Amino acid sequence: MIFFKKKLEMVKSRFRSLLGLFFFVGMSTLSAQNGRFQQAVAYKMEVAMDVVTNQYKGVQSLSYTNNSPDTLKRVFYHLYYNAFQPGSMMDVRSRTISDPDQRVKDRISKLTPEEIGFIHATNLTMNGKPVRYKEVGTILEVDLDQPILPNSSVKFDMAFEGQVPLQVRRSGRDSEEGVRYSMSQWYPKMANYDEQGWHANPYVAREFYGIWGDFDVKITIDKTYTLGGTGYLQNPNQIGHGYQDEGVKVSEPKGKTLTWHFVAPQVHDFMWAADNKYKHDKVQMANGITVHHFYIPGEKTSENWEKLKEITPKAIDYLSQKFGQYPYKQFSVVQGGDGGMEYAMSTLITGERTLPSLVGVMVHELAHCWFHGVLASNESLYPWMDEGFTSYASNLAMAAIFQPNPAPQRSSYGGYFRLVKSGLEEPMSTHADHYQTNSAYSAAAYSKGAVFLAQLGYVIGEEARDRGMLRYWNTWKFKHPNVNDLVRVMEKESGLELDWYKEYFVNSTKTIDYAVKEVKASEQGTAIILERVGGMPMPIDLVVTYQDGTKESIYLPLEMMRGEKVAEKDAPKRTKSIAWPWTHPTQTVVLEKPVTSIKSVEIDPSKRMADIQAENNKVEF
Ligand SMILES: [Zn+2]
Repeated sequence: MIFFKKKLEMVKSRFRSLLGLFFFVGMSTLSAQNGRFQQAVAYKMEVAMDVVTNQYKGVQSLSYTNNSPDTLKRVFYHLYYNAFQPGSMMDVRSRTISDPDQRVKDRISKLTPEEIGFIHATNLTMNGKPVRYKEVGTILEVDLDQPILPNSSVKFDMAFEGQVPLQVRRSGRDSEEGVRYSMSQWYPKMANYDEQGWHANPYVAREFYGIWGDFDVKITIDKTYTLGGTGYLQNPNQIGHGYQDEGVKVSEPKGKTLTWHFVAPQVHDFMWAADNKYKHDKVQMANGITVHHFYIPGEKTSENWEKLKEITPKAIDYLSQKFGQYPYKQFSVVQGGDGGMEYAMSTLITGERTLPSLVGVMVHELAHCWFHGVLASNESLYPWMDEGFTSYASNLAMAAIFQPNPAPQRSSYGGYFRLVKSGLEEPMSTHADHYQTNSAYSAAAYSKGAVFLAQLGYVIGEEARDRGMLRYWNTWKFKHPNVNDLVRVMEKESGLELDWYKEYFVNSTKTIDYAVKEVKASEQGTAIILERVGGMPMPIDLVVTYQDGTKESIYLPLEMMRGEKVAEKDAPKRTKSIAWPWTHPTQTVVLEKPVTSIKSVEIDPSKRMADIQAENNKVEF
């Protein structure tokens, strides 16, 4: 009791002294500003697909929890299928951008009324009371008379009807390879609201950001169709189609349709695909994960898809070990879509490919499970944290399980260097839909994003970077990390300050170019003058090779890193560290040995630093 009283006094006096400070700022505002929160959803949907008209009707019951400190007076749903109509934002953007996606071009403008996509709410209530809503292209704007208070849950009930567009981009019907339904972005989906506010992005090109939640989906469709995608099938022994337990004889259902019941816990999206020609292969992995493959058998598919049965599980194991354990019990590779696209617990890929191409796209989309599926950074704001990291991971996985490659990230460096040369580069902090060109988006998101991680191995050391990736996973899975979250993890793992790396490499288009300016005799022995030619400063690994074949490594960390990376295993012995303040255009390294004993002096022989002009990195005698 006494202890308590004393403590209370202490707290009181502390409080009084802080009171002046907090008075104007407001304590609740402070905690809200610092806090991260996540909204929560639980979807229950029942949908019936008419395979003759390609239209579907559904009901959706959505329980929505507002975990934010804010009172919400409006909410927004995505209605993605409305993008596939002449005159839509996606159509106009594709017809006016200088380098349109070849799959889209002007195709949307030519869709007939039977070929367009649409999705409309026909009725919407919140807690049983009708709400006012307005469809604005691909967004449904909903005004709430009764606001949603902080830390409270409400229930939205919606009836909706949709038409599956002729396949143009990602989802749709009757793909080039003859897959009837690739059903992604097919249902009214609540937009995300986070500490940066609403993310009701119109569907222009790319990509997605959703709220974690549970999905319970019942799909009624012609009984000849086989379905695959997100979610665990709840009634396999009534459905059959390769899902039934071993030894179970599935009795032929009465009527023309089957109702498939799927449940998917802790995902932020739900995709399904359906075709009446699919072959369904099931592979049981030792760790309990079931891999499903769905493809239309034929000359261009069967042989290679058969080989996937061995490769997909290997890739899941490799990626789990390197980047964190795959957290679901199922992964499905489904032929469909228009290339390769990642979804929760699944992917849609085109299937008529050579084996290296099929494996390449499967591994890439699988790797998305880590960065899109589970870490799930906002892909509009940080597309490179998904596509770039996925490219980085799939480059490693391909080299490890399929085609050995001593420099698996080289192609990403190449893509980045070409981007710099093109003069079209924009900062990686650009919103994914707002790049001037598709090529600048792709090269930044895929190539420069991968280089961000590969080069980070140079800056902080490969081991710290690899430990950092696992720590990133463990800290941020299911939490939508942003760029600061990643950089903070890497700072903690390496003990180095890295904000500059983000500021230059993500938020600017400044480039790296260092040079060995001069190697000359000096009073002490040899003086090596290094020069920062480019706008972006970097730490320098300098390797000196002597005529007798010995080597030494001289390390020049940036002073603002406030530390040094641990010497790397494969590098020559580090003999010196000389901090380099970023303001100084040159730095001199003094060696005691005479200049005549030197064979060569080279900046970063590992070539992990994305130096845009490698020719001036080495002086040889
Ligand atoms: Zn990708």
